[in-house]
This record gives sequence, structure tokens and C-alpha cells, in this order.
Amino acid sequence: MTVIQTLSDIGDVTGKKVIVRVDMNVPMREGIITDDTRITRVLPTIHHLHTHGAKLVLLSHIGRPKGERRDDMSLAIVAERLRDLLTGISVQFVDDCIGDVVQQAVDALGHGDVLLCENLRFHAGEEAGDAAFAKQLAVYGDIYVNDAFSCSHRAHASITGLPAYLPAYVGEAMRAELEALDGVFAHPIPPVAALVGGAKVSTKMALLEHLVEHMAYVMIGGGMANSFLHAQGHAVGASLCEPDLAPLARSIMDKAKASGCTLLLPQDVVVAKKFAAHAPSRIVSVDAIADDEMALDIGPATIDAWSQAIKASNIVVWNGPVGAFETPPFDVGTVSLARIIAAQTQAGQLVSVAGGGDTVSALSHAGLTEAMSYLSTAGGAFLEWLEGKPLPGVAALKAAADTRLAG
Ligand code: AMP
Repeated sequence: MTVIQTLSDIGDVTGKKVIVRVDMNVPMREGIITDDTRITRVLPTIHHLHTHGAKLVLLSHIGRPKGERRDDMSLAIVAERLRDLLTGISVQFVDDCIGDVVQQAVDALGHGDVLLCENLRFHAGEEAGDAAFAKQLAVYGDIYVNDAFSCSHRAHASITGLPAYLPAYVGEAMRAELEALDGVFAHPIPPVAALVGGAKVSTKMALLEHLVEHMAYVMIGGGMANSFLHAQGHAVGASLCEPDLAPLARSIMDKAKASGCTLLLPQDVVVAKKFAAHAPSRIVSVDAIADDEMALDIGPATIDAWSQAIKASNIVVWNGPVGAFETPPFDVGTVSLARIIAAQTQAGQLVSVAGGGDTVSALSHAGLTEAMSYLSTAGGAFLEWLEGKPLPGVAALKAAADTRLAG
């Protein structure tokens, strides 16, 4: 089996130029970084390479400039934050990622110095996965490190192109992420449960199809549960529902049965006539939703039943809130399940892997972002991994390791 090479496999990096693909696509409002998690996550890799005397060339994208230079999508501001975080380390910024200015900046690097290059996506070759562009980038390094799991579902030049030209390794943050994710599908300790929520089934069909074939339990909550309840013949009133997807929902239920997966749908729900904070609400069985009512959260009997499934599992993977958690009181289901998962995890009874933008927000709302075994901030890459798709960035690192071993 191919084993991706890690930082400890590199050998002596003293004085070597190491290109590190990072994801510094941080959220910004009015020119200010509002959350620097993506920067802090890659600090272990930077510190490791700095301590071992490498010359670091950091590559990243930010936003979607679509091949054009845009002042509001410059990484200069990220370089400033990096300087604050890396006290005692020289951090330079260069306002392009290819060309003479970059060559000069790279030539000026001393052992342990850090250079952040300007937004890769100012060049169309990056998103096009252009081999010629990757080759231009490759001249600034002796070694390539990918520490951007969240970008590894994209076949972009800096993700899949660079490993074709340079010896390639995985960075610390991405290694930890892959290790946590491998525990779910590659080396699971059954039973494994999946908790899936969110607004619409249409965006998560492929995901559900994959999960029911691999999991002991799949719990479906959120707006998407309504489409399943509808497919079972329940009236869902004014709830968010995709009636056209009833045949697909039925086929997922059939697949679950054939695979021996226990598919858990809500037994009771919290309904309201108005979708607003603190709107009057009531708890009803799923067969008693009135025409003018919307199901906006799972009810207490469902929370109880799902808690039992969680307690019976060794691993839980979670994507998507089970109710409209941004609007109280419809956050109770999501927060309650987050608390159960957190408690089981802290007690050493459960390995919990959660991910996706809304799940991170929901856990943050519950004050439990630190309580999961692993929380992935990678939205698209996490979902594609959960769907069982091979991630191009991971495949490229594996291919690079194969070539190295064969050589
Ligand atoms: P997604 O982007 O598909 O993961 O959906 C997340 C969104 O689904 C959140 O903003 C939730 O508020 C919303 N959501 C969850 N449950 C419901 C529900 N029962 N009705 C309407 N929206 C919901």
C-alpha cells in the first residue's frame, strides 16, 4: 500500500528550498482577517521546517479572482498576520508567485526564512491545473509539501501539478487530518455511525448513498429529513421539502436495508407556523404535522433515540445541523446531540469526526469546537472525502511516493 511521505521522511532540509502549499484563504471583512484558524493550523509545519534550516516558500490562494490581479484579494494582509504569529522568524512577502521578483526573493532567503508569495489564482493556470504553470512554480523549490487538505479536492496546478516536478510530502496539519479521516473508512473500529443534516437532500444524495453502504447507523436530520418523511408518506405541511426526490430517497432507504444499515429518521419534530427566533412552537409526532406548520428541528424522542445509537457506536462522523440552529429554539436538537457526542468523546467512548462549514458554526454555537476528536474546517474536501471520492491532491502525493520508492 502506498504510504504518503511525511516531514519526518524528508531527511536533511538545511538550506533547501521547500515549497509549502498552504490554505490561507481566510475570511475577511473590510480588509480585516475575521478568523485566522487556517493560518494557525499550518504553523507546526512552518516551525518544523524553520527549525531544520529550510528556506520556506509558501504558496496559497485567497478568494476567487479568476485569473486576474485584484487588490482586495491580496495575501499581503496574511503576511502581516504571519509576521505577528512567527515572532523571531523572518517573513517576507512578494507580490507575485512567478517571475523575476519571486526568483530574487527566493535567492535572498536565508536558512529558516519564510517567503509568502502572492495569490496563486491571479494566474489562470492555477485553477486550470496547467502543467506549464506548475513547472514555473517548481523552479523555486527543491522539495514540495502539501499542507492544504481543504484544497486537495481540486486538481489545481499547486496541488496536483507540483508533485509531478518535485519530491512531494504531506505537511503536519494535512497528515493529522488524513489520519483522523482514515479511521472512519480505511481502518474503522465498528460500529460506525453517521449523523447528516442540512437544508436539502439534493446536495447530499451522493453522500447518503455512500454512507448507507458503509455505516452501521445513518441518522438523517435537518430540512433534508422532511424529504424522506414525505417519501415515506408523511404529510410535512409547510416544511422545506423536495418532493421530486421521493424516488431517490426511497432508493437510499432500500440501499440501507440491503446493506444492513439502520437508517434513523426523526420520530418527532419541533414545528412552528413562523420561521423566526422564538416563534411559538410545539413538539409533534412526524405523522401529526399540520398543513401550515414547518418542521424546524428534531424532537426529544428523536434526540433520545439517536443518543442511544451514538452511545452504541465507536466512531461518529457528522456533517450538517439537524435543525435550523441559527434560529432559537430550533437549535436544541443540534446542541443536544453535540453535547452527547462531546461527552462520549471526552469519556473515551467515542471517536468523533465532524466537518463542513455549517457543522463548524453549529459546534461553535454549542461552544464545543474543541470537544470533537477531530473537527475538519475543510468544507468541499471533507464532503468529497465523505462521499468516498479520491481526492486529487492526496492521489498526487501517493503517486509521488510510488515514483520515489520505485526510483
Ligand atoms: P447545508 O448548507 O445543506 O448544510 O444546510 C445548513 C442549513 O440548513 C442551516 O443554515 C440550517 O439552518 C438549515 N436547516 C437545518 N434544518 C432545517 C429545517 N428543518 N428547515 C429549514 N432549514 C433547516
